[in-house]
Amino acid sequence: MASKINVKVGETPFEIAQQFLGSAPVDLLGMADALGIDVNMHADMCDPQASGSIRRLPNGRYFIEVNGNDFDLRRRFTLAHELAHYILHRDIIDQRALVDDAMWRSGAGEQIEYQANRMAADLLMPAGLVRTLWNAGVENVSVIARTFQASEAAARIRLEQLGLLPPAWV
Ligand SMILES: [Zn+2]
Repeated sequence: MASKINVKVGETPFEIAQQFLGSAPVDLLGMADALGIDVNMHADMCDPQASGSIRRLPNGRYFIEVNGNDFDLRRRFTLAHELAHYILHRDIIDQRALVDDAMWRSGAGEQIEYQANRMAADLLMPAGLVRTLWNAGVENVSVIARTFQASEAAARIRLEQLGLLPPAWV
């Protein structure tokens, strides 16, 4: 008999996240909710330069804070970055928050931040969806950026990563 619940017992966070990558803009808050993560998108950060943070609460749930002073698209990227930390690195996140600075570096190490940024790009602009749109004729950085609620700079980098645009610096 088919189950009516969307989140099935035993599904990994990665599998849960993937269910949100089929439509643009990706519902990152819905993803956080499905993962059981509480989110404050308008946080008053202890360090005003911090982009965001993630910590484990005493009750075992996780909590993401995003700097409320940042502009919308930047906060959206920060949320994706912190969700990526949860999906990839929750085993190293404890009750002391992992806090990302203005460049999304936390002191957890370069490799950790590189992984989080790569996955954040995947969550914001899923490769399959971007390619589908591009191949359907939406070959316009501004339109792609608006569709995914990303900055034009981020959209350009993503299109370069996916080989749809030539690298700007060549
Ligand atoms: Zn980070």
